[in-house]
Amino acid sequence: MSTEKIVIVGGGLAASRTAEQLRRAEFAGDIVIVSDEVHLPYDRPPLSKDVLHKDDHDLAEVTLKPREFYDENNITLRLGSAATGVDTAAKTVTLADGSTVEYDELIVTTGLVPKRIPSFPDLEGIHVLRNYDESQKLRTQAATARRAVIIGAGFIGCEVAASLRKRGVEVVLVEPQPEPLASVLGTQIGALVTRLHRAEGVDVRTGVGVSGVAGENAVQQVTLSDGTEVEADLVVVGIGSRPATDWLDGSGIEIDNGIVCDNVGRTSTPHVWALGDVASWKDATGHQARVEHWSNVAEQARVLVPVLLGKEPPEAVVVPYFWSDQYDVKIQCLGEPEADDIVHIVEDDGRKFLAYYERDGVVAGVVGGGMPGKVMKVRAKIAAGAPISDVLG
Ligand SMILES: Cc1cc2nc3c(=O)[nH]c(=O)nc-3n(C[C@H](O)[C@H](O)[C@H](O)COP(=O)(O)OP(=O)(O)OC[C@H]3O[C@@H](n4cnc5c(N)ncnc54)[C@H](O)[C@@H]3O)c2cc1C
Repeated sequence: MSTEKIVIVGGGLAASRTAEQLRRAEFAGDIVIVSDEVHLPYDRPPLSKDVLHKDDHDLAEVTLKPREFYDENNITLRLGSAATGVDTAAKTVTLADGSTVEYDELIVTTGLVPKRIPSFPDLEGIHVLRNYDESQKLRTQAATARRAVIIGAGFIGCEVAASLRKRGVEVVLVEPQPEPLASVLGTQIGALVTRLHRAEGVDVRTGVGVSGVAGENAVQQVTLSDGTEVEADLVVVGIGSRPATDWLDGSGIEIDNGIVCDNVGRTSTPHVWALGDVASWKDATGHQARVEHWSNVAEQARVLVPVLLGKEPPEAVVVPYFWSDQYDVKIQCLGEPEADDIVHIVEDDGRKFLAYYERDGVVAGVVGGGMPGKVMKVRAKIAAGAPISDVLG
């Protein structure tokens, strides 16, 4: 085989999974993981959940593989080393210290950068949440905070709201859309999420944005777009993220809302691949789609690795899945529901719920809150493109 050295840039789930799959597929050449973080690759979902509300939760609990795993599998870790550029003709990656790393095949897994609000002054107490160090800083300040304003009721904003409530912090959740999660799951399910948070004492303000923050050194006040002023000593900005591709500017690799890939992770440039949150893969319908969920990473690694090694990818039909933990309710989503699908809420006990999403007469997805068994039962129907009448009975 001509591939002797595979360089993986990024040090999260996609990097760790890909390296693991390469060794499982008996790739015997060099594997190098280049990460700008100093920590071993770790799992992000707990950062907005247990890490935030449990004071004794530590890094070891989220670390994906212990250091021995990398040693035993002869995987070189270049931690604390940001990649700053790539020369695709010379097949080298440049690092922040000016050194270069050669590759035969390059796999990009650099994930996302959380969006900030540029007009905000630089005050203590304003947070974003993407990495472990940010979660530690937020947890430390949450320990003494009285009231938090969370800007954006997407999954991360909602989970942070739940974690801060568990700590006893007062929470104001501000969302310009009519309901939390409305752009992903639609307003009907969004309303059930609002109900859940209100029942836990969150002050949910929808249809309104944030126009400014003020304070001396530390944040003290948030002004909403309707002019309301809210006192707060903690602000969490959860307004989404953008693909971490700045370091690829000028490389010639095609980027359009993420790194543009075919349906197996090949980019527009030979010997360069991408997967995970940073990558926009061609989906089964031929559209480019970038997915920001955990399960997608594992699925993409399972496809990309064999192809890179010249083997056939697995043929299994994959039904997309993600979850979000808010209080005691695990919200699970299977399939590809869209905000403008017809939503059939078939169970609702005032806190837990189950809903089927209908598009063109077919079951497009299922969303459950606190209904794990019932969600998973629908997998085969979604995979088969079954008519909605099959699940509505
Ligand atoms: C707080 C939080 C909670 C989440 N909860 C859920 C959940 O409940 N359910 C769910 O399905 N998904 C959840 N997710 C999403 C899930 O964690 C991601 O889909 C997954 O982490 C993506 O993995 P990745 O390896 O593509 O990217 P990442 O995990 O982001 O890893 C990218 C890595 O690349 C590094 N990097 C970036 N630029 C460079 C560079 N230039 N050079 C070197 N290294 C670089 C980054 O520092 C990072 O270590 C959550 C995400 C977050 C942030």
